[in-house]
Amino acid sequence: MIRDRTALEERIASLLEAPAQAENPLYEPLSQLWEAHHDMMRRIDRISRISDAYQSIAKQREMSLAERLEKQLRQLEKVARISDRYQQMMHDLNKALRQASTHDALTGIANRRLLGERLKEEADRNKRYGRSFSIAMLDVDLFKRINDQHGHDVGDRMLVELASVLETEVREQDLCGRWGGEEFLILLPETDLDAAQQVIERVRERVRELTVRVDTELLMVTVSAGIAQQIPGESYSRTISRADLALLQAKRLGRDRCELASETAV
Ligand code: GH3
Ligand code: MG
Ligand code: MG
Repeated sequence: MIRDRTALEERIASLLEAPAQAENPLYEPLSQLWEAHHDMMRRIDRISRISDAYQSIAKQREMSLAERLEKQLRQLEKVARISDRYQQMMHDLNKALRQASTHDALTGIANRRLLGERLKEEADRNKRYGRSFSIAMLDVDLFKRINDQHGHDVGDRMLVELASVLETEVREQDLCGRWGGEEFLILLPETDLDAAQQVIERVRERVRELTVRVDTELLMVTVSAGIAQQIPGESYSRTISRADLALLQAKRLGRDRCELASETAV
């Protein structure tokens, strides 16, 4: 088609250039028409060049816009990932803080604060549902001697080993914590005095079996315990005081034993 048109144009051009054609009356209007045709072609050419250029600019703009969006998306994804990581870090940090504030640094078991929280919960539960709990106070016998004879570090090691025995031996539902120094508290939810005594006697037996090697020597410890069952309406601090008195009694009666609190003491 284009080749035909080019051939036609060449033919017309050569016809118009032939000197004999100047006499022809059609020569003038045809020449003008030829010029107008060329002019039109030039304009079309120009318009199509402008249109091409415009299209390529638009395409470029579209591409750079897509690229920019892509880049922003990548940046947003990065920010989201950083924020996720940050949130995870905060979560872990909170967990670590909670762990540190509720657990004993030396032995890793519950500290007095966590015990207090759980005791309060149990006392509230008792008020609402009438379910009574028991408390056992345990104290290492003649612990000062271990420190005096073997040093504080060995004493610390004994406490760590002992805490691990206590934690292993109490039941799933019980909470064992370090009340302070070489004193431990075991909270036994929904447990009466007899059942609590059985648990604590077993714990005491396991403690007797514990040995800690120091050089060539094997060290052993015993614990004394006082157990009290919460009386309906009684504050948990009073229950603890009664358990403390029972513990004192266990010490007086020769140590390495378990005594039950009387309901009227304190
Ligand atoms: P009792 O049978 O009457 O309880 O005798 P005891 O020697 O255990 O009692 P006492 O209260 O005289 O001594 C307790 C000792 O426990 C003294 C203290 O230095 C030691 N103790 C308390 N906390 C720690 C600790 O975290 N690490 C070490 N190594 N010793 C501790
Ligand atoms: Mg003590
Ligand atoms: Mg002691």
